Amino acid sequence: MIYLDNAGTTKVDKIVLDAMLPYFEEEYGNASSLHSIGQHAREVVEEARAEVAKAINASSDEIYFTSGGSESDNQAIMSVARMGEIKNKKHIVTSKIEHHAVLHTLKKLEKSGFEVTYLDVYENGIVRVEDVKNSIRDDTCLVCVMFANNEIGTIQPVKEIGQVCREKKVTFFTDAVQAVGHIPVDVVDMNIDMLSMSAHKFHGPKGVGAIYVRRGVPLFNLIEGGTQERNKRAGTENVAGIVGLKVALMEAVKNMYCTIKHEIELRDLLIKELLKVSHSSLNGDEMKRLPNNVNICFEGIEGESLLLLLDDEGICASSGSACTSGSLDPSHVLLAIGRPHEVAHGSLRLTLSKFNTKQEIMEVIEKVLKVVEHLRKMSPVWDELEKGVRKHVI
Ligand SMILES: *Cc1c(COP(=O)(O)O)cnc(C)c1O
Repeated sequence: MIYLDNAGTTKVDKIVLDAMLPYFEEEYGNASSLHSIGQHAREVVEEARAEVAKAINASSDEIYFTSGGSESDNQAIMSVARMGEIKNKKHIVTSKIEHHAVLHTLKKLEKSGFEVTYLDVYENGIVRVEDVKNSIRDDTCLVCVMFANNEIGTIQPVKEIGQVCREKKVTFFTDAVQAVGHIPVDVVDMNIDMLSMSAHKFHGPKGVGAIYVRRGVPLFNLIEGGTQERNKRAGTENVAGIVGLKVALMEAVKNMYCTIKHEIELRDLLIKELLKVSHSSLNGDEMKRLPNNVNICFEGIEGESLLLLLDDEGICASSGSACTSGSLDPSHVLLAIGRPHEVAHGSLRLTLSKFNTKQEIMEVIEKVLKVVEHLRKMSPVWDELEKGVRKHVI
């Protein structure tokens, strides 16, 4: 199989798995225990905290381990909202293209009296800093804009948004799950107050992530129980997972420029060749996009059928976000950049990793072209478009 769904999840790197294994076998201690096996686990967790902090230019005491991106997103937002409630600041600014872990948390807050402003991302899928500035009010407690989008790969002007938030004294949280381990992230330089990351998006294990909380920013816990994670996240530490997160992140950071160069070469080849298909169009900004993201709409076909046929051809791809496939609603991200419903349904997302080769990409190009042509031949919609009964949109 050729795996091109790395925004959905990634393969655990061999070096990561090898580093994790001892923590299931002989080093299975509970980091809260006082005996030596427990104390070794404690040391390992704290060493991981230091390395994870270093990777984003934070301090160890600003990192809390969680069960992944969704939990980190929930905790960041619910925590700031709780502070907002205390100070009677119940307005939040976000974008229309956030991950559901963010959007659904905000929906819950709207039901309990918060007001949320959803910023436009225009046709290129990017928030405008001016809009952020203009939407901040006296009662705004949080600005929450993702670092990079999981569907269309667009990279937001995080540093500039952070700057505006600092000036206006509003907490700035960014869901950086698609960015950490893929592109440079520096929480100090980029004026970030809170950030979430997830190991399985950069060749680490599923079910472990972290939240960065700048010193001085209050954090409330989501999960009650023991005193783990300095009282902010109860539950026996996932020691093997935390080690996996650390090693995966160190590897990703160490080889980042090499990986970026490799991915961009493959990405640009895919984009160039796939856009030769008539009535196709790239989703999201051409330049300000993740090195591993390709997302293209093909008019007159169904993304679902495209995925199934590509699967038969040995290619794992995605259409819109993995979380919404199975639902009939087109992706909220594609709608937000102005794609009409019927066009949004014909989207194909190919997300690369360091493991993909040029040979694989050549094969993918050939097969996508073949499958798109095949589907269009059978499509009544395409027939109407060709006969002029229906107007082409792209
Ligand atoms: C995958 C993803 C999440 C969720 O992370 P999990 O670790 O799977 O819970 C959140 N935000 C973005 C942008 C993602 O891509």
